[in-house]
Amino acid sequence: MRGLTHFITTWVPIILFVAIVFMIYQEANQPETIYVGEGATEASELHPVVEKAKNELVDQASKKDIDVMITDEVRSKERQDELYARGRTTEGTVVTHAQGGESYHNYGLAIDYAIKNNNGNVLWDIHYDGNNNGESDWFEVAEIAKEIGFEWGGDWQHFKDYPHLQMTFGLSINELQKGYRPPPDK
Ligand SMILES: [Zn+2]
Repeated sequence: MRGLTHFITTWVPIILFVAIVFMIYQEANQPETIYVGEGATEASELHPVVEKAKNELVDQASKKDIDVMITDEVRSKERQDELYARGRTTEGTVVTHAQGGESYHNYGLAIDYAIKNNNGNVLWDIHYDGNNNGESDWFEVAEIAKEIGFEWGGDWQHFKDYPHLQMTFGLSINELQKGYRPPPDK
């Protein structure tokens, strides 16, 4: 009996203490999200962190003599559905695998880029080397973007989306659709 009492008085507090520390640790390491409700209205502008990163990307690229053009930012679900139809039910080639609500663009967390050449024409040529440094401008921009914290669609295995840059903040499309968002200050 004494052995059991000793066991309880010694180990129970230790186990409780460890459990509480673990729970606090878990809580502190949870990616912070805000809940805006399922079916919440889509974003009308870029997330402030993405907006800042976008401007930094354009700045840093211009220092390498690359004129980056941001061709798309926030997209409505209707617009996303239109793009999804391209190459499927409407003319053209497939440009996306995401339907309305399935793209980070719909939540203000993605941008698309292209390159402007010296004549001011917008190019979607991933081999163009306008600054003549032996590297494709497109890939140079992707490298800068990744350093800033973007995920690049050109790295995807199944469907390479070379113009696409996104920041997920650890949130899946499923979570975004369920109404979770990154906090505005993150
Ligand atoms: Zn995109």
